[in-house]
Amino acid sequence: MVASPPSLPRAADLDVAGKRVLVRCDLNVPLAQDPDGPSGMRTIADDGRIRASVPLLRDLFDRGAIVTVMAHLGRPKGTPDPQLSLAPVGERLEELLEVPVRLAQDVVGESAQESVRASESDRVVLLENVRFDPRETSKDDAERGAFADELASFADLYIDDAFGAVHRRHASVYDVAQRLPHAAGPLVAAEVEVLQRLTVDPARPYVVVLGGSKVSDKLAVIEALLPHVDRLLVGGGMCFTFLAAQGHEVGQSLLEADQLEACRRLLDSGKIVLPVDVVAAKRFAADAPHDVVAVDEIPADRMGLDIGPASVRLFDEQLQGARTVFWNGPMGVFELAPYAAGTRGVAGAIAGLDDALTVVGGGDSAAAVRALGLDVDAFSHISTGGGASLEFLEGRELPGLTVLAG
Ligand code: ADP
Ligand code: MG
Repeated sequence: MVASPPSLPRAADLDVAGKRVLVRCDLNVPLAQDPDGPSGMRTIADDGRIRASVPLLRDLFDRGAIVTVMAHLGRPKGTPDPQLSLAPVGERLEELLEVPVRLAQDVVGESAQESVRASESDRVVLLENVRFDPRETSKDDAERGAFADELASFADLYIDDAFGAVHRRHASVYDVAQRLPHAAGPLVAAEVEVLQRLTVDPARPYVVVLGGSKVSDKLAVIEALLPHVDRLLVGGGMCFTFLAAQGHEVGQSLLEADQLEACRRLLDSGKIVLPVDVVAAKRFAADAPHDVVAVDEIPADRMGLDIGPASVRLFDEQLQGARTVFWNGPMGVFELAPYAAGTRGVAGAIAGLDDALTVVGGGDSAAAVRALGLDVDAFSHISTGGGASLEFLEGRELPGLTVLAG
């Protein structure tokens, strides 16, 4: 199924001294309202992605490159939106990089051209949110191409270090790379290396743990992974459609009736392990009455919001001895304290494995690792690009990687 992914040219191998380098970074950080600032003022809630981008920019700067950074923030509707300006990101980047960062007031307009022209190797230029220009995400090749021509005119070389965007056929990811000599930055290279180890001859036993809310979101990845794994442990909201497919009553739990047939077919593989007990609650709320019940005793008026303690023990046993583990999707509604134990227990079991490659993928799963106070360093790798990682594992072509390999 999965063709061996192409090998990528690396940023470290480019001769960048005195060259103008255009870098696509993933600076799409979560924002929060600033309680002390003027209304509408935003602050950065988690600067992880900015921090992660620093090593490449620092290295390019140290090697004498003239660096222009482009990135997106949120989903502006193809027009400038002050709420989604990269200004606060630029300030944070400057602090972390310890190099002056000049924010252009636009993407390819006058201010951008002026900033890039004025820039010598003594500062970094950050273009405004690339999605302020509707051509960035246009489906029309010619429109994207025209935008990419303008972006490419700023540079001699292009480096992509935004793994979270490689599955997008966007101008700053795909079309610009076609127009300039290019390479993968260290974040993209590291991510591809790990995902390759999951798809090309993984060390066995290979155990995948899946959760999250819906089967339909993850069906493609389950189908792609199932032939290659030894066991697939299923928790989270999606386990109820599997349990129902086995004939259990699931009460008010999440159930996707149109996926029952698909679940039956997947269960025929004999590799899927389901929970044996769940935390069943009266309502979707932290203060709702809730109890642990066996999966064949879920009351009709209750909904399963977490896997139970016997399931955590079962999943832990199933994980013992694994040499490769991929985990995507929380085991329960971990955001509410009474339903976090399943996710904490299973994540802890994965983190405790010795001698295994353990990879966490998915935005909410990575957030769960941090929110539940687990040791981030206990995992081999926490993937930054949720959607891009899943598409990679599905064996789909990722335009941003294909173009770098070309
Ligand atoms: P990821 O972002 O890691 O890929 P998903 O987006 O698929 O994960 O799913 C995360 C969401 O699934 C969480 O917000 C969590 O509350 C929800 N979830 C987990 N278990 C259940 C459940 N039993 N019922 C309803 N929602 C659930
Ligand atoms: Mg999610």
